[in-house]
Amino acid sequence: MTSGPQDAALRARARQVIPNGMYGHESTRLLPASFPQFFGRAEGAHLWDVDGNRYLDLMCAYGPNLLGYRDHRVEAAAAAQAALGDAMTGPSAVMVELAEALVSMVGHADWAMFCKNGTDATTMAMTVARAQTGRRRVLVASRSYHGAAPWCTPVPAGVVPEERAFITTYAYNDTAGLEAAVAAAGDDLAAVFATPFKHDSFEDQALPDPAYAQRARQLCDETGAMLVIDDVRAGFRLARDSSWSLVGVEPDLSAWGKCIANGHPISALLGSDRCRKGAGAVYVTGSFWFAAVPMAAAIETLRILRESDYLEHTVALGEQLRSGLAAAAAAHGFSVRQTGPVQMPQVLFDGDPDLRVGFAWAAAMVERGVYVHPWHNMFLCAAMTAEDIEAAVAAAGDAFAQVRASLPGLEPHPLIPHVLAGH
Ligand code: PMP
Repeated sequence: MTSGPQDAALRARARQVIPNGMYGHESTRLLPASFPQFFGRAEGAHLWDVDGNRYLDLMCAYGPNLLGYRDHRVEAAAAAQAALGDAMTGPSAVMVELAEALVSMVGHADWAMFCKNGTDATTMAMTVARAQTGRRRVLVASRSYHGAAPWCTPVPAGVVPEERAFITTYAYNDTAGLEAAVAAAGDDLAAVFATPFKHDSFEDQALPDPAYAQRARQLCDETGAMLVIDDVRAGFRLARDSSWSLVGVEPDLSAWGKCIANGHPISALLGSDRCRKGAGAVYVTGSFWFAAVPMAAAIETLRILRESDYLEHTVALGEQLRSGLAAAAAAHGFSVRQTGPVQMPQVLFDGDPDLRVGFAWAAAMVERGVYVHPWHNMFLCAAMTAEDIEAAVAAAGDAFAQVRASLPGLEPHPLIPHVLAGH
């Protein structure tokens, strides 16, 4: 099965005017051929492709959708601000209000700066850490995604080695490895980066070992380096605070984005007084970074996060999905590995080294109106209901049966084995 006629027509036009027809993480290049590339609209927990097919969306825009698409409360706040002004010659009062809201919610934060994308926030974290410490070296966990800037993009085309000259990798959750990397950095260590948990593509997810997290904090204290948590993907999906509040560790800097305005374009760097001076020294800005509409949307989103049970609700739905998928898989003789927090699940198949089974299952799910991803963690949103998850589990059972029947004839995706080989 291939995508629908409208989608196919748009892909053909896109190939003429967009390099490769699409780029970045929303390109379907590394997904089953039947996945739609273009979408027409989204509402609550669902989205519709340009051919009108409706999906329960377990990708949530790769993270921005937390409360449900077009949440009426957030959209009303955004519309009210839009009636007043958005990008203006200077910021609106909502910038101060939003900074106050984030500082009040996030334990380690004494200040906030705003930007547009997660990459802006993580890159700013690195710059601020270097300005604060006067040092160069930055440690990042190998394979952790921190964005698409030259210092961190996973695809090195167009990047010269000098742009990464002071980036060193260590293995996530490997305390001894981190200690060795810190020792090797000597007195040039500016920052240690970590994601809240290991949420790397193509792999099982892993929660942070508290000993590793706590040792990272200690090592930064001993060396004067800045501890940076990249909460762009997981922020507010695990806690109403920094995600490492769950392991009792306060970073010096944290990067946020994706869901903080429930889909409106804004990201943030939060920091403690330990690096306020560095934050004040750097020159960082952007034409749209001070726009008021996303800030108003973020203020309302954060209010809802504080006052609703969105977190407990997504955890309960995640547990329902996890146990339902495990039972459905077992009933059809599949063993699936479901890793990471239940509200941000990664689903991979045992005995599926080139992901051909996972791809077939994802394609069968999409055919049944449930948008799942074969190698990236998924996301639940607060607009989903127990009935939605029940329907997804029922679809999964049928999809497992279909894959079981087609198993001998499955072919690997043309690009995935090469991607995995280089991984
Ligand atoms: N850090 C993490 C952990 C992310 O997941 C992402 C985006 N997937 C980024 C940074 C970069 O964010 P953006 O795509 O908004 O630049």
